[in-house]
Amino acid sequence: MMLRRQFLQKLGALLLALIPLSLWRRQRGKSVGSLWQIDPDKCVQCGRCAKECVLSPSAVKCVHQYASCGYCEFCSGYYHGNYLKLDTAAENLRCPVAAIKRTFVEDPYFEYRIDEELCVACGKCVKGCADFGNGSLFLQVRHDRCLNCNQCSIAAHCPADAFVRVPHDKPYIFKKPPLELKK
Ligand code: SF4
Ligand code: SF4
Ligand code: SF4
Repeated sequence: MMLRRQFLQKLGALLLALIPLSLWRRQRGKSVGSLWQIDPDKCVQCGRCAKECVLSPSAVKCVHQYASCGYCEFCSGYYHGNYLKLDTAAENLRCPVAAIKRTFVEDPYFEYRIDEELCVACGKCVKGCADFGNGSLFLQVRHDRCLNCNQCSIAAHCPADAFVRVPHDKPYIFKKPPLELKK
């Protein structure tokens, strides 16, 4: 009983500590008027988003623009080129940390969802999707994590000049869906 009460007290203290941090992040974005973001059309998936962020794991995550996805059984972001079988065995998957979750929708369609807690922003799935698919997977700075550093250390190392400043009320950059998917 005592242990449970101590646990709940610690949990409460942790949650209270996190509220000011998230308010501070949001307020900082507003006060400086802009936030860091990645232009997905410029990113060349060099891998530095995984290594250069001041946070570990990185504040950059893979996101999925469902409106552009083909819901393919063979997803080139999910499977690497030398896969043996279209199943969920780790040996067939492109993601090194199993952060992409695949769910059957209806024959022959599958949905792919990113588990952001696991994603380390390596960009491997983004490259696979861009090379052979619709490009519906891409990297974005997640603002519930990013500290909005004055000088983003990833931006300073980005070889493609893909980091840009965006207004705090439009914090994400979406890709244009392929023509055949536009309604
Ligand atoms: S550092 Fe630049 S080019 Fe490399 S993955 Fe990040 S945004 Fe893309
Ligand atoms: S392959 Fe890399 S970028 Fe894509 S979901 Fe996995 S960890 Fe994230
Ligand atoms: S601004 Fe700072 S926390 Fe945000 S992505 Fe860049 S280095 Fe990481």
